Amino acid sequence: MEKGQELYSGKAKSVFLTQDPAQLIMEFRDDTSAFDGEKMDQLARKGMVNNRFNAFIMDHLETKGVATHFERLRSDTESQVKRLDMIPVECVVRNIATGSLCRRLGVEDGLDLVPPTFEFFLKNDELHDPMINEYHIASFGWATPEEVTSMKSQTFRVNEILRALFAAGGMTLVDFKLEFGRFGGQLLLGDEFTPDGCRLWDTDTRKKLDKDRFRQGLGGVVEAYEEVALRLGVDLTKPVSS
Ligand code: ADP
Ligand code: UDP
Repeated sequence: MEKGQELYSGKAKSVFLTQDPAQLIMEFRDDTSAFDGEKMDQLARKGMVNNRFNAFIMDHLETKGVATHFERLRSDTESQVKRLDMIPVECVVRNIATGSLCRRLGVEDGLDLVPPTFEFFLKNDELHDPMINEYHIASFGWATPEEVTSMKSQTFRVNEILRALFAAGGMTLVDFKLEFGRFGGQLLLGDEFTPDGCRLWDTDTRKKLDKDRFRQGLGGVVEAYEEVALRLGVDLTKPVSS
């Protein structure tokens, strides 16, 4: 599959057209950003680690019945995906209170959330991704009520699957963000699942193994991502078959 013109370039990934209008190539770059692009850096190997990690997670979700855009690894830093009509909404599930939830509601950091809670955010950097509710999504036509129901149930399903996966590696899935898009009449999980878009703590020590290491200047960011991959048995060195 030939890599064509760049369709768009986000803060951490670039998306390219291919000769097949239904397929894209997604390139994971080493760029890292936080606080809506205010803090930026380049972290060697991050693109490669995230690309392979994302492929592992998407494959795992597919085996558990979650429909995703993922097709195949194309190179160390690139994956082939289905081209989606993205819904401009971020779906967040939280098992433990931290981050923006604590800032907004003044709740204790580290509090277990039983049941887990769910939030929608509008994907808009200029507005700093404001929190929105289902009425906003309906009134502004960002998604249909059926799509809203499906995004919520699929995000909770992903939570159940991945909590178990990370628990087996001694890690706690604290929270994460998903994005969905339309492919024909189907709603598919798009974008990525990597330590850039979730929070993972070592279950015993609560050591942070995710992008909070970058946000909080803790260092060892890519090393932590590699540790997560190692604990799940992701082979970061396997040659990509063309
Ligand atoms: P951001 O837009 O937040 O800076 P990225 O750097 O990760 O994020 O850019 C990737 C972009 O590609 C995002 O805007 C995301 O919504 C979009 N995207 C992810 N998966 C697909 C897909 N399958 N089809 C079309 N666009 C996608
Ligand atoms: N998240 C993300 N992209 C965003 C906003 C949030 O991937 O634009 C993820 C973030 O990594 C965390 C979860 O969603 O795993 C909840 O983030 P939160 O609302 O606490 O935001 P933050 O504290 O990072 O501002």
